[in-house]
Amino acid sequence: MNPDDLVRSNVLRLKPYSSARDEHEGRASEIMLDANENPYDTGYNRYPDPYQGRLKERIAELKASKSDNIFLGNGSDEVIDLLQRAFCEPGRDNILICPPTYGMYKVYAEINNVAVREIPLTASFDLDLKSTLEAPDDSTKAIFLCSPNNPTGNDLDPDKVRSLASSFPGLVVVDEAYIDFSTRPSLLTRIGEHPNLVVLQTLSKAWGMAGIRLGMGFADERVVRTLNKIKPPYNVNQATQELALETLKNEKKREQQINSIRKERNAIAERLECSPLVRKVHPSDANFLLVQFHNAKTVLSALKERGIIVRDRSELPNCTDRLRISIGTPTENERFKAVLDELESTL
Ligand SMILES: *Cc1c(COP(=O)(O)O)cnc(C)c1O
Repeated sequence: MNPDDLVRSNVLRLKPYSSARDEHEGRASEIMLDANENPYDTGYNRYPDPYQGRLKERIAELKASKSDNIFLGNGSDEVIDLLQRAFCEPGRDNILICPPTYGMYKVYAEINNVAVREIPLTASFDLDLKSTLEAPDDSTKAIFLCSPNNPTGNDLDPDKVRSLASSFPGLVVVDEAYIDFSTRPSLLTRIGEHPNLVVLQTLSKAWGMAGIRLGMGFADERVVRTLNKIKPPYNVNQATQELALETLKNEKKREQQINSIRKERNAIAERLECSPLVRKVHPSDANFLLVQFHNAKTVLSALKERGIIVRDRSELPNCTDRLRISIGTPTENERFKAVLDELESTL
C-alpha cells in the first residue's frame, strides 16, 4: 500500500509555505537579513529550525529510527490533529476508535468534521479484532488505538495490532504515550513492515516534560512528508527543541523514576485489591490505575475534600464506578492511602 493514496486531494496538490530558512539553512557566520527578525541577540531572536534537525537526530539514535521517519509536534495532540487534517476529508471520511480510550481522537474528529465509528474494546479491554476489521468502509481513513490504553492502563495485544495493520487499508495509529512504563517493546520498529502504521510517543509522561509540549510521530517517510507539508512552519519552538535535547540526556534518571513509579503502582494496586471499598483493580502497564469502586462518587468526593484530585471515568463505556488514579511520589501515595484507611474505618 502507498500511504500517499490516502491523502486528501487538496493536500496532495498543496504547495506548502516555504520559509526563508527552509531554502537556506542559516548559519551564525552568515548575515541573515531574510526573515525580518530583530538582529540583536536574545538567544531567541531567530526563528527555530522548522524541521528540528538536531533533535530528530538524537531521537533517531535513541529509538533506533531514522530522522526521515520522525515527525515532531507541539505535543502528540498536534500530531493527532494533523493526521486527521491530512488524511480525512471533512464531511465525508471517518475514523475508527475503540472506547474506552483517549478522548482527543474524537475531539479532533469533531473539530475537523470527521465522522467517528466506535468499536468498543472487549470486557478485558483488548481489541475485538473481528469487529474492528469488519467496521471500516471505503471512507475509513484511520484507526486510532492507544497502547497502553488510557484510561484502562493495559497494553493491547501487539499481534492483534499488527494483524490490523496488515489487513486494514488505511492508517493504523498506535498512541504509545505510556510505552515507557510497559514491558512490551514499542511498535515503532515495525513501521518498515507496515507503511500505514503510525506510532505516537511523547515527552509528556515518562520523560516528565508535559510543560514543553513535544510529541513524536514515527511513520513511513511519505506520511512524515505529508505532515511536514501541512504543519505550522515553526510548530516546535526553540526553547522546546533545546529543553528536549537536554532532557534526552537524562536516560538514567528516567529509568530510575520509571522503576520507582512501577513499584509504587504495584504496591497501590495490592493495597486497593484488599480494600472493601474496591470491586476491581484493572491490570496496568502504565503510570496510573483504573479502579472500580463500589461507590466511585463517594470516594471521589472524599478524596477531593482532602485535597486529592483523581479522574472520574465512570461515564465511559464499561467503566461504571471507575476512577483513574495517577501514581504520585511516595509521599503523595501515602496521603492517598491514608484517605483509604480513613474511609474504610467508617464502613
Ligand atoms: C497524555 C497523553 C498524550 C499526551 O499528549 P501530549 O500532547 O504529547 O502531551 C497522548 N496520548 C495519550 C493517550 C495520553 O494519555
